[in-house]
Amino acid sequence: MSNHLFDAIRQSAPALNATFIERDDRRILTYGDLVAGSGRLANALAKLAVQPGDRVAAQVEKSAEAILLYLACLRAGAVFLPLNTAYTITELAYFIADAEPRLVVCDPARRDAIAAIAAGAAIETVDARGQGSLMALAEAQPESFDDAPRGPDDLAAILYTSGTTGRSKGAMLSHANLASNAHTLMRWWRFTADDVLLHALPIFHTHGLFVATNIVLLAGASMLFLPKFDPDAVFRLLPRATSMMGVPTFYVRLLQDERLTREAAAHMRVFISGSAPLLAETHRDWSARTGHALLERYGMTETNMNTSNPYEGDRVPGTVGFPLPDVALRIADPATGAILGPESIGVIEVKGPNVFKGYWRNPEKTKEEFRPDGFFITGDLGKIDRRGYVHIVGRGKDLIITGGYNVYPKEVESEIDALDGVVESAVIGVPHRDFGEGVTAVVVLKPGSALDGKAILAALETRLARFKLPKSVIVAPDLPRNAMGKVQKNLLRDTHRDLYA
Ligand code: AMP
Repeated sequence: MSNHLFDAIRQSAPALNATFIERDDRRILTYGDLVAGSGRLANALAKLAVQPGDRVAAQVEKSAEAILLYLACLRAGAVFLPLNTAYTITELAYFIADAEPRLVVCDPARRDAIAAIAAGAAIETVDARGQGSLMALAEAQPESFDDAPRGPDDLAAILYTSGTTGRSKGAMLSHANLASNAHTLMRWWRFTADDVLLHALPIFHTHGLFVATNIVLLAGASMLFLPKFDPDAVFRLLPRATSMMGVPTFYVRLLQDERLTREAAAHMRVFISGSAPLLAETHRDWSARTGHALLERYGMTETNMNTSNPYEGDRVPGTVGFPLPDVALRIADPATGAILGPESIGVIEVKGPNVFKGYWRNPEKTKEEFRPDGFFITGDLGKIDRRGYVHIVGRGKDLIITGGYNVYPKEVESEIDALDGVVESAVIGVPHRDFGEGVTAVVVLKPGSALDGKAILAALETRLARFKLPKSVIVAPDLPRNAMGKVQKNLLRDTHRDLYA
């Protein structure tokens, strides 16, 4: 048996002196360094008694070495478990107790605190510069390593869901889940060895780790690796990139910068957006400013990527495009599971080689989220239009039921966002004595805007049915977002929970 994902990476690797990662300080990691470095690290994992199937948790800053650690885990047959760098020790205690890693890799500053909550695990360090006790151990190891045999269904990673709608669950992703999706996306988006990807995403999430990094690896391409999103660095490196992947907030921030011009983006091949809703307005503004239609795609931790707008053909603002070639996608009635036709809103369900193996040590939850015929219930609400484009109208848990009527927040948000003087909005359901839930809008205004709650309501009155109109409009300086730019509606619901009490 082979080692499924790493074999695919080996097979597509270009010449050993070709660049894989160029760091922010211009130091280069070649494909040769990738094989040697991941071999040394895999030997270090073996020294630390990491066996195939063991979990290796990593809460480390973004570095090329952190990517090598991911690759070393693949080669050793271990299950890579990246953790958001923002998690506190209390949060980490939950993940560590749940996943029972054999090894935890962390920043040197956290070593003692993590040792206190991870009894039984080995603890090693890697810092933001890619140095630490794990790297010192790896330096002393040979490059050559016999990759652990791994089949398509063996686990490559566990990624905890971001938990914006409840407690985080560990999504088990197999070698074939990751390899198949990266191959599909590479072809759909036409990545080749000539591509240079501007990488400004975090690497503890599916977007920066699997979508970006695995595609680059399978195409034999290279990436310009930024420690974090920073417009100055983006504009400095853009002339040398061919492609960029980002969350919508990246594109919104770049649009606020006068350096974003047609010339600055002229040589780029593609700008890809995902992980949170992209406003149709941002899509249009981006086209007008750069001449490039943003390419929006949709996916989630559990499923990898499900849909994408086309590379050639209409990239329709406000849609996430077509189901990817090997993904079956349907819309079902959330209550009965009946399959709905075009233009009907329901829950999005998907099936394909991209869909995860279930939640770690949680067979009940896994069973609840799959239909008997194997479709995964994403929890996202959406529709397929007559041209076959998928639209997302929000998370199922964000659906508002007021006086017995369903209100889709996105519909109300789109009307508010279209008003002159509004930056963005979030519409939530808040417990209400009479209606069950009261539609509530939290709105961010442009500086100097003359709008207020009353004026916004007045503008909506002629555009939305009465039951959809917000019971309150709250003006706020900004919306709470997580690291991937997703609006944290759970926090907004908490803040305003007594509004109608
Ligand atoms: P995560 O598991 O953290 O990647 O979050 C996945 C969720 O992000 C999905 O279930 C969607 O609710 C949302 N999401 C991802 N991509 C998009 C997109 N292009 N448009 C709207 N929502 C998206």
